[in-house]
Amino acid sequence: MKCFNHPDRDAVAICSVCGQGLCESCSVKIAGKFYCKPDADRVFGEEKQMMAEEFVRPTSIIVAAILFYILGALGIIWSVGIMASGSVASLLIGAQLVSPLIIGLIGLVLSMLYLIAGYWLWNGLREGGILGVVLSVISVSFSIPLLAAPFLAAVTAVLMVVGVVLIMLIAMSWNYLT
Ligand SMILES: [Zn+2]
Ligand SMILES: [Zn+2]
Repeated sequence: MKCFNHPDRDAVAICSVCGQGLCESCSVKIAGKFYCKPDADRVFGEEKQMMAEEFVRPTSIIVAAILFYILGALGIIWSVGIMASGSVASLLIGAQLVSPLIIGLIGLVLSMLYLIAGYWLWNGLREGGILGVVLSVISVSFSIPLLAAPFLAAVTAVLMVVGVVLIMLIAMSWNYLT
């Protein structure tokens, strides 16, 4: 039998997938079996892909990531709204001196960070857990003074609870993050 790729060379092995004859330089030996190069790539490439897809994502990570996505999306809408209507912003925050534009921009950056934290958590990255805890601690502590604001009290209370829940969810899923 000759090598499939090199008709002038004798085959030293047979691909265990396609059965082609393989010379020394065309054969790949993996775990005691011979493969031609395309089959080795296909079989073991797929196996690697399957392992990557089988990352076991616990419910706590799924819920936390979705909450970060939702908060990030709401935050972007809120920030754009604040920037669009400066008068409403001053009314709600109660600070005429602080530019709504600056508040809106800070809100936008924080919202982006929420989306990034959600994305990292979804992919099981420890950075996502760290960023998520930092963001939640910041939002909870900055929410406390807003509890006194007449229009924001209810929303702020909900956001604070969500922040605490997020910290708990991240703590629960910490060992799954790498
Ligand atoms: Zn083959
Ligand atoms: Zn060959």
